[in-house]
Amino acid sequence: MKDTVTTQFEVHDREVLANARSIMRATGSPKMWAQAVIDAVKRNEEWRGERCLNLLAPEAPTSPMVRALLSSEIGTRAAEGNIGRVNRWFAGTQYIDEVESLCVELLKTAFRCNYADHRLMGSMLGNMAVYHAFAQPGDVIMSAPQPFGGHSSNRYDGPAGTRGVKIFDVPFNMDELEVDLEGFAKLARRHKPKLVVMGMSMTLFPLPVREMSQIISEWGGKFIFDGAHQAGLISGGQFQDPLNEGAVILTGSAGKTFSGPQSGMIMWNDSGLTKPITDTIFPALAATHQVNRVAALAVSAAEIIEFGAFYMAQIVKNSKALGKALDEQGIPVLCAHKGYSQSHQVIARVKQFGGGLEAAHRLAKANIITNKNLVPEDKPEDWDRPSGLRIGTIEATRLGMNEKDMGTIAGFIARVLVEKEDPEEVAKDVVDFRLPKQTLYYNFDHEYPVWAQEET
Ligand SMILES: *Cc1c(COP(=O)(O)O)cnc(C)c1O
Repeated sequence: MKDTVTTQFEVHDREVLANARSIMRATGSPKMWAQAVIDAVKRNEEWRGERCLNLLAPEAPTSPMVRALLSSEIGTRAAEGNIGRVNRWFAGTQYIDEVESLCVELLKTAFRCNYADHRLMGSMLGNMAVYHAFAQPGDVIMSAPQPFGGHSSNRYDGPAGTRGVKIFDVPFNMDELEVDLEGFAKLARRHKPKLVVMGMSMTLFPLPVREMSQIISEWGGKFIFDGAHQAGLISGGQFQDPLNEGAVILTGSAGKTFSGPQSGMIMWNDSGLTKPITDTIFPALAATHQVNRVAALAVSAAEIIEFGAFYMAQIVKNSKALGKALDEQGIPVLCAHKGYSQSHQVIARVKQFGGGLEAAHRLAKANIITNKNLVPEDKPEDWDRPSGLRIGTIEATRLGMNEKDMGTIAGFIARVLVEKEDPEEVAKDVVDFRLPKQTLYYNFDHEYPVWAQEET
């Protein structure tokens, strides 16, 4: 390892890379380098896993059973192609076929649809499959701009961009944080997009899928719902049901509200779409597709089928309660007039507390993990220093917390941001609050928290 590498082009933070090199120099043997990795993993587990309030909206803790499957033997086996003896290149895959077919059928059940694919390593790749299968260079698409919650997936810098499509913004109403349907109709009728792909990373309320699909059906446009964030809410029946409202394809992340292993899913109903979608997945985007992950995904689908309705409803109740409590503690939250949220997120306006970057880093010092976020009044180029903070309730909910706990969490956040208390002091109370809460619910080992059993 020569230190001349410090001068080469890096996308990563040079200091952090240099720190890794100095750890390697100081320890000196591959075995100790491996130990350094394991130590960092353990430090993360003890801090993030046990002592933090993880309020990142795109993050979910998997059940112990799902997590255990992620290190199972089956994940070391080569299996590519479609399910079934003659479809695979390799012999010896009969149990793998069993696991994968259960996964596919469980996903179809979870999403009440005719087709699902389990081989996507990320939702990003699901979107890639959509663009590859249904767009040509030069085609026109419409998607949501980032300050209103849109995601790079469907913009020039993501999968959509790699396909060379021309993108027009779906117009939004700033105050309602809803699609401006009249504006959309006008723009869509002018540009006749082949695809309208709605992928909302900031997602508070359902989208007018029915109305938008109707409009683009005038020229045979397809509505794609990129439900990376909302997949669990959709499956649990707590948000909207895009495939029943006119969307022809639903993509989703398995590791956001769906609370399974980080990876992707894609669902659809029309048999005419099956070949273009699956031909793109295999052999274009996935060869071996991590069968351990498929097993974990299958079990998490079973969990959502069994516990999803209650779990997801509680996630939404917690968001509403958290939004209200934050507002009451002096932290403005978007869409107070609409009850703050119908999803797993609330968005706080934190410009007066130093902006999203500063607020998120102060909170992290108090063991409260959130992320900076663009809000409608920000410009796309404000992405590194936006004025919002996105706060999610998935993990808190799975740890058994309810509306009352959201008041406590809002109190911690207010102590850091509003009262400007030393975050390290607040961290002590966060740890006291968090340490007794280590059980993950809404799975087959620990079904419901005690308060929920008493309620039902
Ligand atoms: C998170 C997200 C993705 C990417 O999902 P991965 O599973 O992380 O690949 C795609 N689209 C939207 C709207 C997202 O929020």
